[in-house]
Amino acid sequence: MIEKSQFVGCFKGLAIGDALAASYEGGPIERLLWHFLGRTKIGQRRYTDDTQMSIDIAQSFLTCKHLDQTHLAQTFANSYRWSRGYGPSAAHLLKGIKNGESWERLNRKKFAEGSMGNGAAMRAPIAALCSLSCHDGLMDYVSKSAEITHAHPQAIEGAQLIAHATRLALIGVESIGILQALCVNVIAPVYKLKLSKCLGYVAGGKLQPITVIKAELGNGMLASESCVTALYFAFMYRRLAFSEMLQAICDLGGDADTIAAMAGAIWGAINGGLALIEYDNQIEDLAVIEQLASSIYFRYQEMVQ
Ligand SMILES: [Mg+2]
Repeated sequence: MIEKSQFVGCFKGLAIGDALAASYEGGPIERLLWHFLGRTKIGQRRYTDDTQMSIDIAQSFLTCKHLDQTHLAQTFANSYRWSRGYGPSAAHLLKGIKNGESWERLNRKKFAEGSMGNGAAMRAPIAALCSLSCHDGLMDYVSKSAEITHAHPQAIEGAQLIAHATRLALIGVESIGILQALCVNVIAPVYKLKLSKCLGYVAGGKLQPITVIKAELGNGMLASESCVTALYFAFMYRRLAFSEMLQAICDLGGDADTIAAMAGAIWGAINGGLALIEYDNQIEDLAVIEQLASSIYFRYQEMVQ
């Protein structure tokens, strides 16, 4: 039986990872900008687009009781604020939706095959929680929630890997079992190669130097450069403190907030919300996030009864 604490841990882990790693993302200009934007008036750490779009997924699901792409696209657009650190393509797309354009036309406007970024994978853990709580299948739920902003097959597959790992973590599958399950169904060669490397590291049980992780798994903004990296951190640190995992991801740099959001969600799904209690007053809106996670869990309980 999945516990409510695991839903709460998953959502809070995502938000805490995102907020605390945000000031380690990108180069000097991004870091300097977040130095000024990264705190609320009362000194709490602000979350970025990763958490905002995850909140959007949760709120749209709780309103519609299933995945409604038009409603979700509108929810994404209504929540858009430049100060959350959205990438330029996502910002352009969301402003277009807000101005009445259709997401089906906008999501392949800049890139013919759609964006390959990790913006769908970063919110995929919450899509996994929602799909557990309704009749829609996991892969269908994730791909439909992904394609609104990230239509490229690699972006969708990255989101599916993160969501599938989240679901298996929730039901108590061990790390190696999760990675083996992901390896069975993976399509893109880049994921196949990186998952097999990640499986080797996790099976070996020895933390790799950050330089090795950066070179072999990646730390970039593409889904193919960050999703398996997040799985590596979630599984290698599953029995260690969240703060140790976070420090390692910040040391890795690159797209640190999104890697920490994805790894944090899976770590939280495994270890539960109580393991994250020390962060309760440090991050904005964690009480709201806990409430959303609890509401999705109550829907899940209604489904399984
Ligand atoms: Mg972000």
